Amino acid sequence: MLFVFSAPSGSGKTTIVKEILKQYPEFRFSISATSRSKREIETDGKDYFFITREEFESKIKNDEFVEYELIYDNNYYGTLKSQVDECLSKGECMVFDMDVKGALSIKRIYGDKSLLIFVKPPSKEAIIERLKNRKTETEETLKKRIARIDFEMAKIGEFDYVVNNDDLQTAVEEAKKIINKYYIKEQK
Ligand code: 5GP
Repeated sequence: MLFVFSAPSGSGKTTIVKEILKQYPEFRFSISATSRSKREIETDGKDYFFITREEFESKIKNDEFVEYELIYDNNYYGTLKSQVDECLSKGECMVFDMDVKGALSIKRIYGDKSLLIFVKPPSKEAIIERLKNRKTETEETLKKRIARIDFEMAKIGEFDYVVNNDDLQTAVEEAKKIINKYYIKEQK
């Protein structure tokens, strides 16, 4: 099963995904490739494969992506076929953190093998506040992220499930309930 988490930037989706991966250590995270620059707290090969724009474009030519998007005007983000194929061939569950367009592409390609979960923030203001507080963005990239919020929120109806992220712990519990409908942990 492919569990895909999506939400506008700043909704707390990455925090929820990290918490889910802690609680289901047997799940694999789909490490995307991106051409955006690495943040201080991120690790190459763990959070993303950080590559140059040229490397990304060469991978596009070589047909190495399941899907990719140009997000916030100039940064590529993409899911590598190698990541997903390996997981599916082993029958493992995989967790994705991606934008709404990417999530809908995964559904189109993998159908019932995928489950789309939208992480709904309490309000647009809450997202903006969060984006400002985490201090990872410049004035310009912040504006681009804010400009995309409405577009991403408008796709909520196309998702299989919505998790309200008013409170992190409750959101994680909601996400676990959804996952447990489709996945039964093996007893050791
Ligand atoms: P950030 O720069 O904040 O890490 O990510 C920006 C957006 O790109 C987020 O919505 C994130 O979920 C999304 N994203 C990350 N990896 C992928 C990917 O492989 N494909 C797509 N379509 N979006 C991605």
